[in-house]
Amino acid sequence: MDLDKALGLIAEVPDFPQPGILFRDFAPLFASAEGFAEVTSALAGTLDEGVELLAAVEARGFLLAAALGQAQGLGVVMVRKPGKLPQVAARADYELEYGRATLELPAGVVQPGQRVAVIDDVLATGGTVAAACRLLEQAGAVVSGVSVVLELAGLGGRDALPGRSVRTLHTS
Ligand code: 5GP
Repeated sequence: MDLDKALGLIAEVPDFPQPGILFRDFAPLFASAEGFAEVTSALAGTLDEGVELLAAVEARGFLLAAALGQAQGLGVVMVRKPGKLPQVAARADYELEYGRATLELPAGVVQPGQRVAVIDDVLATGGTVAAACRLLEQAGAVVSGVSVVLELAGLGGRDALPGRSVRTLHTS
């Protein structure tokens, strides 16, 4: 399957989770072995040389980073929603397109100076990825880049990530 066809498996669902939001649903893409493999291999091409660890944003970032990490021989650190981690290194609150959210980084996983790539499914306002980058840097990591499948144009995601190397497979 080619990349366009794989990305075409992402469904557009109006009015979820709130009226007026057009939600990109990755469930059909993840359910397609060929589509998922194609997207994983395209994401591999976005990683910088020298990346040592992938940071996955809960929850769809977990699937993407796990597949990518296994294919590339890289481990994964889970950047989680609050209340899930037994030991928290740092916590960041941020604004979403629809509400507020918090992310937490586990303690003792990221090493100072480690080169980390942030992986997620969708870049909208950029608040989520910016928060993940902040957490990693607080832990002493070096964020080498950000790799996201789908960038939603017009929501300012890139503006929220000044100076960062942001690579997306598709803009819509
Ligand atoms: P941002 O913080 O950039 O505004 O929003 C991106 C985060 O919210 C990502 O973690 C992503 O999973 C989630 N998100 C926002 N909009 C959508 C969407 O339309 N589809 C999906 N799958 N996730 C979204």
